[in-house]
Amino acid sequence: MAGRADMPSHVHWELTYSCPLRCVHCYTESGRRPSRQPKPDVLLRIADVLVSMVPQGLKMIGIGGGEPLIVEEFPRIADRLTQGGLNVFVNTSGYGLTPELAAAMTSLFAVHVSIDAATAPVNDWIRGRKGAFERALSALAILEEVARTRRESGHSPLRFGIDAVLTRDSFDDIPRFLSDICGRFTEMKFIFFGAVIPIGLASRETYESQLLTDEQLRLLADDEFVSRMKQYARPDLQVCFSDNLMFQMNPSRQEFPVITIEPDGMVRGLTAYEGHVGNILNDSPDMLWRQVCALREHPFVVDQLSSVRTPSDWAAAARAIDRRFASPKELIRLSKRPPYVPKPD
Ligand code: SF4
Repeated sequence: MAGRADMPSHVHWELTYSCPLRCVHCYTESGRRPSRQPKPDVLLRIADVLVSMVPQGLKMIGIGGGEPLIVEEFPRIADRLTQGGLNVFVNTSGYGLTPELAAAMTSLFAVHVSIDAATAPVNDWIRGRKGAFERALSALAILEEVARTRRESGHSPLRFGIDAVLTRDSFDDIPRFLSDICGRFTEMKFIFFGAVIPIGLASRETYESQLLTDEQLRLLADDEFVSRMKQYARPDLQVCFSDNLMFQMNPSRQEFPVITIEPDGMVRGLTAYEGHVGNILNDSPDMLWRQVCALREHPFVVDQLSSVRTPSDWAAAARAIDRRFASPKELIRLSKRPPYVPKPD
């Protein structure tokens, strides 16, 4: 395994599995499973454990879900983490974002609003709820206003932008994202385009038609394509493209030193895949990280991931790893996943 880190520098914390959306590619099946959201004191205890990991090298916490902004304690949790020395960013669909909450979120490193297509009909289809596109744009407008007010009054900036998951239905939307959507928000700092990752609901065999083609994946790393796309954006907007292969945990690739924590503190062994190595509230971070590292070198995992060449291979490996390491309860959930139904023309 290349580049083994002594401890994780990043934590991805899924704060709740409750979500108002039903995205067809949802990695966590949020909204379709129990929220597993613990009581406020438990969430704050998890935050305290994360802060205790700062001297060991933890730097960044990404808070997602589910929809983290519907968790009432979110501002307190974010404050506790940032005051403890961590950079905290949040991924939100925009649901639950109010002007008051946006104004209270200024200690955050960044706010990422997810939009998955540049038009309402396609976005709302992907996200499983009519009105999701307008809701995300409203959230961006709120963040724009707060960011402008802060800049004009000399306060620390509010860094916000868009996370867009690229699927075959939305790949050609890149220019429209950059000109039409980003063009409306002059305070916006970034847009990150990432290839859909074939895990969770996106690992279903029936979803393969939406995984990017080899050519689309190649383009995301092609300098000429990237600079051509950037011409659609204003010059000061940070525009990033990623094939997201770092989330594969492929033994032949440089390791991404991240662990994923579920709402109640359970730690996933393989970040993107099913299966646990313990709970951050009961087990020492050192022991958990050792377990995570050991699992990444498990012969079954190495065998499955070493032969991955295409997004479809990756989806098949994800299904096999999920089945191998999921608990009996998780296996029941996996077996009940409905097939993906393509968008009607
Ligand atoms: S907004 Fe995120 S958590 Fe909610 S259904 Fe969509 S992908 Fe899943």
